[in-house]
Amino acid sequence: MEENYTKMGIYDDIVQTIGNTPLVRLRKIERYFGLKNELYAKVEFFNPGGSIKDRIGKYMIEGAKKEGKIVEGAVIIEPTSGNTGVGLALVAADEGYLTVFTMPDKMSIEKELLLKALGAFVIRTPTAVSPSDPNSYYKVAEAVRNLIWKKERAISREELREIVEYVQRLVREERLEELEAILEEKVEETPYAYIPNQYFNKYNPIAHYETTAREIWEQTNGEVDYLFAGIGTGGTITGIGRYLKERKDIKIIGVDPIGSIYNLVKKGTSLEEAVKRAHPYLVEGIGEDLLPDTVDLNLVDDIVVVNDQQAFAMTRFLARKEGILAGGSSGAALYGTIKYLKENGVEGKKAVVIFPDTGRNYLTKIFNDKWMLERGFEIDDEKVLEVLK
Ligand code: PMP
Repeated sequence: MEENYTKMGIYDDIVQTIGNTPLVRLRKIERYFGLKNELYAKVEFFNPGGSIKDRIGKYMIEGAKKEGKIVEGAVIIEPTSGNTGVGLALVAADEGYLTVFTMPDKMSIEKELLLKALGAFVIRTPTAVSPSDPNSYYKVAEAVRNLIWKKERAISREELREIVEYVQRLVREERLEELEAILEEKVEETPYAYIPNQYFNKYNPIAHYETTAREIWEQTNGEVDYLFAGIGTGGTITGIGRYLKERKDIKIIGVDPIGSIYNLVKKGTSLEEAVKRAHPYLVEGIGEDLLPDTVDLNLVDDIVVVNDQQAFAMTRFLARKEGILAGGSSGAALYGTIKYLKENGVEGKKAVVIFPDTGRNYLTKIFNDKWMLERGFEIDDEKVLEVLK
């Protein structure tokens, strides 16, 4: 029976179900906005953790294993509150690794509980501190890693719990000098604790080059003219862009929230100036205020900007019009796609847009009228989207 598993739709474990997501034609959207193009969405909430980030969770862990950066019993630590945490946690659970995630206090309790449900430990850190402070979520992740390295062996779940509780106490009680000392002490690197760091990890874009992009290529028979994607770490657009551009002349278009640096840098603003002009926005998962290693903007032909209101209106509209309950970055990507196709008079082409995660993550935000109104957003979505028609 085992040889026939995949043919029968049976998998040996949950990790094998990552990827191979569907492309879905958005006919109602095409009609409503009068698009003269075929528009397809790559719907990534079909992944077991509910987002595109399961793909990099799998690749970053398997890459680390291949390169000897982790061995059996290792602890995987990542400063993240989002989809990458879920991806890493579920792959780690399946493969028997322990996980610790550090996240700022402002992140919702649901996110913490979700990671804990998958067996992870979570450490909360103050929100308003700079990344270089010893109690930032980046540095706290390093402190946990150093304490495990110091043991020079694999540790048990109970030992990890003690380390996590100790570090959480140092953070809560603002014992910054003790944290600093842990960070500064010279310890030998061991394969018993590892921080994948999605912003610097080459397996992030590689995951999309080898899986997301290849799937799009095969699903469209190579007949794709435009690819639209939001940019967070840039892993998605860089991996897909590289693969598709090696095969044909295709336009790769990024979608960026107003307040992020990518659109400014792409248009020639210096990085220093762009960082100065960066400001907060509410759409989650896309845009940055730094330039990660994982993005190659040379592969991106153009960047469209979208504001929170436009992203949220389109996210809500998409759920009602197509029955696709996706997250805010999907609405942003779709808004950017339609805006670009219309403004540039594109007709008769095939476009693919990436929908990174599920709307279930945002039921209490984007899909909650009260939350929207309290932040001054219009909840009459059609009114907001009128300008695109
Ligand atoms: N949307 C969501 C919801 C995400 O979590 C992410 C990942 N940060 C992205 C879009 C962007 O993907 P990438 O990091 O590959 O650019």
